Amino acid sequence: MPTAMEIYKLLPKKNCGECKFPTCLAFAMQLANQKVALEACPYVSPEAKAALEESGAPPIKLVTFGAGERTAKTGDETQLFRHDKTFYHPTVLGLVLDCGGGLDKVKAGLESLKRYEFERVGQMIRVDSVAIRQGGAAPEAFAEAAEAACSQPLPVVLMSEDPKAMAAAAAKCKTRPLLYRATPANFDQMLEAAKTSGCPLVLGGVSGLDELGQLADKAKKAGVQDLVLEPAAGKPSDLLASMTTIRRAAVKKKHRPLGYPTVAVLGKGRKDQLMAALGVMKYSSIVLMEELPPEFAYPLMALRQNVFTDPQVPIQVKAGLYTVGEPGEKSPVMFTTNFSLTYFTVRADIEKSKMPAWLLVVDTEGQSVMTAFAAGKLTAESVAKAIETEKVKEKSKRNEIVIPGMVSRMSGKLNELTEMKVVVGSRESSGIPKMMRTLSQ
Ligand code: SF4
Repeated sequence: MPTAMEIYKLLPKKNCGECKFPTCLAFAMQLANQKVALEACPYVSPEAKAALEESGAPPIKLVTFGAGERTAKTGDETQLFRHDKTFYHPTVLGLVLDCGGGLDKVKAGLESLKRYEFERVGQMIRVDSVAIRQGGAAPEAFAEAAEAACSQPLPVVLMSEDPKAMAAAAAKCKTRPLLYRATPANFDQMLEAAKTSGCPLVLGGVSGLDELGQLADKAKKAGVQDLVLEPAAGKPSDLLASMTTIRRAAVKKKHRPLGYPTVAVLGKGRKDQLMAALGVMKYSSIVLMEELPPEFAYPLMALRQNVFTDPQVPIQVKAGLYTVGEPGEKSPVMFTTNFSLTYFTVRADIEKSKMPAWLLVVDTEGQSVMTAFAAGKLTAESVAKAIETEKVKEKSKRNEIVIPGMVSRMSGKLNELTEMKVVVGSRESSGIPKMMRTLSQ
């Protein structure tokens, strides 16, 4: 967002008050704080309006494709480094299906994508898109496969460099697919296909980033605003260099021609897998792969989850009393914090013991046991309150609570507040199975 002085310079300086502010400067200050809309001034020139909209736009344009709940959102990033604030839109991961093998093969490929869905630290992780590539197939077969893909919930990328085939396939889709791609050889016709269908468009097929930026400028002037850039990248170092240069130019220099999401289309094998991981870590908004074996896809999705969690907001689970197995009145009660990683680790270690238990999760704003204890967010009082709120004594009649070894110092106070027997458990979660065998049954 431009500063108040930058805005003021572009205002008409009539000080007429029609915007309900006594001076243009006062209006500029409100505008800079996003408290009023530019439209409140009737005298802003179209040039000033365009300049202000441009300078207020995010450094990387938000481009979406697909429809409904699963709509893929790319771009709209503001940082070079995750720890400076956060990254907002996780890399969209997709599988490329070639039409050459026939419609049944495409349908089988679409079906196979349902396998790529699992829960990790309380979040659903999955493949987010599917790309339908024309390859050697006839335009009709491509359109048929596009229609099949667009009738399922995953966002779709249509891949063809034949503008006519692309236009026909896009016309079969109601879910706004991403069109891949316009190159200098098919530029005008592919732009037309994007305009007619209202779909976002990938630009590529050039060797340098300057040429890529020029293509983006040309497309924008022709009225296609939703663009995705594909820099040429034959090897991992090229991909890293190009993606980093694009992100740096967009975020640090506000270089508009490169201010768009990016895509990396990769093949099969180890080198391409390495490039996919690199793309997730370094600025590829979309990564499409010809092959996604589970032993590679799952770690890749876990890597993506780690890169795209907000470093300022720990992943949390809901506080409350959880069951592990089917605990009864004689089952032990343990507590931990609502930091997801801690909760799932402790839970897994209780499961390893093969003994059912009650697991009380205390709200520590997503902090781990030691951090919360040191910060005063995990105290005997807060644990006692959670015991009362969750009616722990009604669920387990042992009148006993097992506490993490690291917070053994709270045992006296906790005993005083709850009148429960306090058992100091293992310091590390990995010690839980052994510790649980020592508990009286
Ligand atoms: Fe200035 Fe426009 Fe407000 Fe008049 S309406 S004071 S010209 S900003």
